[in-house]
Amino acid sequence: MLKKILYTIWFLLFLVLIFATVKNANFNAFINVIENRTFDLRQNFMINAGAKSVNKDIVIVAVDEASYEYILDKYGEWPLSRDIYAKLVDYLESKNPRSIAFDLMFVKSFKSRPESDKALVEIFGKYQNVYTAMNLDNQPEDLRVPPVLPEKLSVNVENHSKNIDFSNLTFTNCRSILQEILNITSNIGMINVARADDGILRTMPIFVKYYDKYYPQLGLKVGLDYIKAVERYSPDKFIIDNKSNLLLGDRKIYLDENGGAILNWYGSTATYQHIPIYKLIKVVNGEIKDEGFDFNNKIIYFGTTASSLFDIKTVPVSRTYPGVEVQATYVNNIIDNNFIRKLDKSYTILAGIILAIITGVIVMKVTSAFVASLASLSIYVVYILASYYAMKYGNLWLEIVYPLLLAVIAFISAFIVKYLIKSRDFEQQYRLATTDGLTDLYNHRYFQEQMRMQIENSKRYETEFSLIILDIDFFKKFNDTFGHQAGDAVLRQVAQTLKRNVRSTDIVCRYGGEEMSIILPNTGKSVAYSTAEKICKRVSDNKFKLIGDKEVNVTISLGVSTYPYDGNAASELIESADKRLYNAKNNGRNQVGQ
Ligand code: GH3
Ligand code: MG
Ligand code: MG
Repeated sequence: MLKKILYTIWFLLFLVLIFATVKNANFNAFINVIENRTFDLRQNFMINAGAKSVNKDIVIVAVDEASYEYILDKYGEWPLSRDIYAKLVDYLESKNPRSIAFDLMFVKSFKSRPESDKALVEIFGKYQNVYTAMNLDNQPEDLRVPPVLPEKLSVNVENHSKNIDFSNLTFTNCRSILQEILNITSNIGMINVARADDGILRTMPIFVKYYDKYYPQLGLKVGLDYIKAVERYSPDKFIIDNKSNLLLGDRKIYLDENGGAILNWYGSTATYQHIPIYKLIKVVNGEIKDEGFDFNNKIIYFGTTASSLFDIKTVPVSRTYPGVEVQATYVNNIIDNNFIRKLDKSYTILAGIILAIITGVIVMKVTSAFVASLASLSIYVVYILASYYAMKYGNLWLEIVYPLLLAVIAFISAFIVKYLIKSRDFEQQYRLATTDGLTDLYNHRYFQEQMRMQIENSKRYETEFSLIILDIDFFKKFNDTFGHQAGDAVLRQVAQTLKRNVRSTDIVCRYGGEEMSIILPNTGKSVAYSTAEKICKRVSDNKFKLIGDKEVNVTISLGVSTYPYDGNAASELIESADKRLYNAKNNGRNQVGQ
């Protein structure tokens, strides 16, 4: 019964815990930070295991440290004059690339030279596969008037997911790029990034909102270019289904609650083929000959990797990761359909409950605490491994922290419940071993044990203690007259009478049959004797109830002995008390023997 109650309490506490934690925003944020770190760990393990490799069709033309040096030496300034990009694009287009994307923003600046800007603008008119970037922000309107963006840049998005809320990706201002570029091309994508609470970039927005319109990310545009060419799929609107998936042809890209796609990372450093921009400039200027770079059908990303140019992000696989590599990773995820899908919260709770139940059963059923701990630990390790392989082979993000937290709480609480039950069982066992079933008095074994202890105690502290032995008078006859059942009832009632009439520190035992004994610690001869007399009188005064409202009188005879006067050993004391009991019997019963 108690067992069931404890189990029920345990289970209810558990449910309360689950729902309390799921509903608590602070706790969730705390768990998320750790969960995110486990994501990072998994990603790093996957990379170290060589599980992933980049798409070879993505090439980065990098303004690296060397190129930055070269540019400063040769032109005396950064950014590069835009006609140089124009020349590079002309050169690259001759090598038949799939697309060319600038992870650079061609904004109006005091360094702009109209002639070189014009050359670049012409490039966007000339080639349909050249892309460039813009970035939305929330600068105050009195600092910069928010520009009106051309209609052609926005896209139609139907969001059927209740979980996705674009409010974190909604912006009210924007530093515009050259108006001429805005006029001539619609190959312009946003390069806003989304950092988690810990500052680490794990997700990339697919769309960002500018007032009430959606604008695609640069990576999505470049990826769509690929999908359009290779898979012949070009959507006129984007649908996010009710399970938070962006539907892109055969692809289902899972978006988190902020509308970010979770990136799968391919490497920790210099993942993609990098070509320093200075080499291409030299080739275009005729300073060196063409090294025969292969750009056929490649997606070429222009971006800065030199740390002095400050486009560095912290990502799960590296503390310093060039922004252009993030862009490349993003496009890679799109074209290889490789984003990570985070399993719904309900799966996480389910996993937690299953782990907790398994743990609970193991702890309850397995006798050895060591084996139970080891078994539970093994289950957790298996779960962690499973979550690793789910990410490695299925792109699935199974949460680890919350389920394990539930499991560990289950583990601890199951142990507590188990030991509560155990200690209660122990108490019961002890009671069974020391008491007499019929009278509920201590049994003979306990009596003997206590006698030994009393003698030791009294020896040590030089105190006295007494023993009373008593026997019911003519009990044989009583049994013969009223039957054994009645005899048992009287035995129980005599036992109760004894207990009621001695101190709580006195030990009342059933010596055997209808004989009982009382050990009176720290009690001398005269007090013991008067106690015996009192008991004798109480028993003889008492009406004992039999079945059917019948009442009878019973008397007892008693004998008293005291340590150390009547002996130094238990046997001597018992013998002495017995002798006096015998005297009482001989002297007419219902009395304390002399
Ligand atoms: P007296 O002690 O006064 O000399 O007479 P007596 O009839 O009580 O004699 P004795 O102590 O020798 O007899 C013990 C009787 O107690 C024998 C037995 O029938 C009865 N008895 C012992 N244990 C129990 C018990 O557990 N239940 C019942 N009903 N009777 C018991
Ligand atoms: Mg007897
Ligand atoms: Mg008797």
